[in-house]
Amino acid sequence: MKPLFVIIGIIAIAGLVALLVWYFEGKSLSEKTFVCGSCGKKFSPKWWKAGFSAHMGENTVLQCPHCGKRGFCPLSYEEK
Ligand SMILES: [Zn+2]
Repeated sequence: MKPLFVIIGIIAIAGLVALLVWYFEGKSLSEKTFVCGSCGKKFSPKWWKAGFSAHMGENTVLQCPHCGKRGFCPLSYEEK
C-alpha cells in the first residue's frame, strides 16, 4: 500500500470520529438548558452549534440566541 492511501485513510477515519463526537456531544448538549451569562435568559443550543463548543465543567461556551453574546453559559437545572 502506498503511504498516501494510508494518510488519506487515517484522515477519513479521524474525520468520521470527529463527526460522531460532534453529533453525540451536540445532541446531549442540545437536550440541556443553559443560562446566558450576559442577559440571564435560558436557552437550549442547537446540536450543530454546541458540538464543538469548549466547556469547563458545567460551563459551556455558547452563543446566546436572545442577545447574541458568546461566552461561558452555566447549565440550568430547572425544567424547560
Ligand atoms: Zn443572552
